[in-house]
Amino acid sequence: MKIKINVATDIVVKPIIAEAIIETGTLLNISQAHINSTKGEITADVPEDDFGKFKDALTSRGAEVSVLDKPILRDEDECVECGACISVCPVKVFTFGEDWSVNLDEENCIQCGTCIEMCPHSALTLEH
Ligand code: SF4
Ligand code: SF4
Repeated sequence: MKIKINVATDIVVKPIIAEAIIETGTLLNISQAHINSTKGEITADVPEDDFGKFKDALTSRGAEVSVLDKPILRDEDECVECGACISVCPVKVFTFGEDWSVNLDEENCIQCGTCIEMCPHSALTLEH
């Protein structure tokens, strides 16, 4: 399952993710990490069975953890199925269907944000 981990600046320098992995034995796969002077934001995949204990290990160290049910959201009223998002997505979230409609497999999204900038109709947003 895909999760988002948010950490404030005062704890961003601490190895809390490494500690949580060691404590819980969770296999974490980090797909995106953005860290600046005000916050750290990490998108990752974690086995569903390990989520509860991994979340507890992180929140007890001051992080916020949320589940990304739909990492990328599409406004169906705005989308004109131009296909621009298909070519830029690095993990093939978008594909053309047999009828040339644009299909969406949102679970694969790593929230890189590239498609959002490319969409000419501003039909895409990231779940936060
Ligand atoms: S780029 Fe935007 S308008 Fe074009 S298919 Fe993708 S979501 Fe739809
Ligand atoms: S945010 Fe990145 S990974 Fe997610 S659908 Fe858009 S291009 Fe693909």
